[in-house]
Amino acid sequence: MRHTAVYAGSFDPPTLGHIDIIDRASRLFETLIVAIGINHSKTPFLPVEERLQSLRDCLSSYSNVRVESFEGILVDFARQRGSQVILRGLRAITDFDYEFRASMANRRLAPEIETVFLVSREENSFLASSVVKEIATLGGNYRSFVPSEVVPYVERKLAELKASGARLQVSGQVSGSGYQ
Ligand code: ADP
Repeated sequence: MRHTAVYAGSFDPPTLGHIDIIDRASRLFETLIVAIGINHSKTPFLPVEERLQSLRDCLSSYSNVRVESFEGILVDFARQRGSQVILRGLRAITDFDYEFRASMANRRLAPEIETVFLVSREENSFLASSVVKEIATLGGNYRSFVPSEVVPYVERKLAELKASGARLQVSGQVSGSGYQ
């Protein structure tokens, strides 16, 4: 059977962890749709258009991967696209609880859609967009965590934050009570 899978997330910003999952999934599924979920209750680091464009910049060589954004219920978007699979990446044990609940809820909403997990590679297992945002906004070297195509988007955002004097709320993973 040849499946279309939807890999959904916020990708704010895209990291090498995301790209690794996409690369591996592109060899498992006939078509892979990378779907950026729009969440109006959160102020994003990068606007959705820049997340779309930066992912398209990274993924231009994959003929079976496309990038879209969506609002609302993920399984409704997957159904509209004729997809039978929701793909998620699994990092450490902390992802499990959230992913378990989301997959149960999604199954109740759409029993015909399967959630499939790919386990992160060891070297990416700590990597999250929140870590990248925190390191970048504190002036650290975040470049080894993201694809090179994403760097100009992050740099533009950092310059914008600097010019406006705005401060981004950071998660405290590598500062303060974290690993400083
Ligand atoms: P984040 O948790 O980094 O903000 P997203 O919400 O964009 O990421 O996540 C989209 C999907 O990608 C989720 O299934 C998430 O578990 C997965 N993911 C994120 N980072 C990684 C990684 N480093 N390795 C594997 N999967 C990942």
